Amino acid sequence: MNGSCTEKMRLVVIGNGMAGLRTVEELLACAPDRYEITVFGAEPYGNYNRILLSAVLCGEKQLADIFINTRQWYADNGITLHAGADKAVARIDRARRQVLAEDGTVADYDRLLIATGSDAIKMAIPGHDYVGVNTFRTIADVNAMLAYATPGKQALVLGGGLLGLEAANGLSQCGMTVTVIHNHADLLNKQLDSSASKLLQAELERRGVQFKMQARLQGLVGDGGQHVRAAQFDDGTALACDLFVMAIGVQPNITVAKAAGLACARGIIVNDAMQTSDAWVYAVGECVEHRGNTFGLVAPLYGQAKVCAQHLAGHSTAQFVNPPMATKLKVSGIKLFSVGDFQGNDQAEHIFFTDPVQGIYKKLVVKANQLVGAVLYGDTADSAWYQELVEQQVNVTPIRDRIIFGKA
Ligand SMILES: Cc1cc2nc3c(=O)[nH]c(=O)nc-3n(C[C@H](O)[C@H](O)[C@H](O)COP(=O)(O)OP(=O)(O)OC[C@H]3O[C@@H](n4cnc5c(N)ncnc54)[C@H](O)[C@@H]3O)c2cc1C
Repeated sequence: MNGSCTEKMRLVVIGNGMAGLRTVEELLACAPDRYEITVFGAEPYGNYNRILLSAVLCGEKQLADIFINTRQWYADNGITLHAGADKAVARIDRARRQVLAEDGTVADYDRLLIATGSDAIKMAIPGHDYVGVNTFRTIADVNAMLAYATPGKQALVLGGGLLGLEAANGLSQCGMTVTVIHNHADLLNKQLDSSASKLLQAELERRGVQFKMQARLQGLVGDGGQHVRAAQFDDGTALACDLFVMAIGVQPNITVAKAAGLACARGIIVNDAMQTSDAWVYAVGECVEHRGNTFGLVAPLYGQAKVCAQHLAGHSTAQFVNPPMATKLKVSGIKLFSVGDFQGNDQAEHIFFTDPVQGIYKKLVVKANQLVGAVLYGDTADSAWYQELVEQQVNVTPIRDRIIFGKA
């Protein structure tokens, strides 16, 4: 920068995903002329809605439907996009305020935004690198899975969390025979209590998905060549497969930030303004750690994006506050929701409603006159209302006797 008031500052963004680009959109809305923006993305496209990969896998959407910003959008907004594996940023030179991509492309910055997201965890069991062993994170992953997705073929999905169940549903909809392998007695054990989990499992079984619960996976066996053929368990059993999908969680992608000497723990450490340990460098999304928390859902990331954009715009005292997480499963016809502390403890009061005929189960957790958590299965019409009560820490004493029946 030469100090001229007409010259724009240079903002470089590493990571062309949902959080990084939401920040850019927010910035364009509040300070359209402040920066010359350059975006580096390791995937070879514009920005897409990762959430909708589940819908692509089960055939409800086409890839073309899930793009948020096409390459034309970047051009129309004067943004330079470097996208593709060779454009992945290999190094940040903080002394020179430069980023360097794999192919040698260099960009200077006045402000840097790191939004490198997460990497899917691949369990380091014997055989994990066979062909046919996949994760579920990117368009490339979905294309790789769809290449196997023909009726009669067998898929094993490791992980009974949200991602694993959405993968299992998608592959099953494609006609594959699918078994979910889970290390716990309950599906979605981080989001549901045992009663709701059992209802969910029964519904998925009715739809043809099979389960191996409380399973201890020992390793994968090949077909004699490079391809996966079966999974072996420590109870001596084995399950055959053509495709093995690992959906056991993500870890923040901090490689480049850490190598640049930015303070990192599980994620890149940021303050309430989404600023890293270097005042010129901001970070948002699943790559960050804020007050000890890392992130796996998009709603808080959009909150981060708003706060970060306001600070980048240079006129803000906004602070990021992490809201309570709400969960939904994107499997059509299955309604479930959970928010907050749905397990409760001895000091909490639990309110239940069950209608076995209709397959409805509701549990509310009240502590010190406030609703602190909820699990709903089968009827989620009041989910937004319960979430508001939790977030706004409303005193529910006046509605305590009818709160389980919902807002109406
Ligand atoms: C199948 C699926 C379903 C989901 N469903 C839901 C849902 O229902 N609800 C919900 O809230 N969330 C859902 N999520 C999670 C949600 O998609 C993520 O929280 C969100 O995408 C994270 O955004 P991000 O920008 O932090 O990371 P990402 O969207 O992963 O973007 C990070 C980008 O940075 C790029 N990158 C990494 N390193 C570099 C580098 N060195 N140089 C250049 N680029 C780099 C990556 O290639 C990637 O494109 C789902 C995720 C998946 C995979």
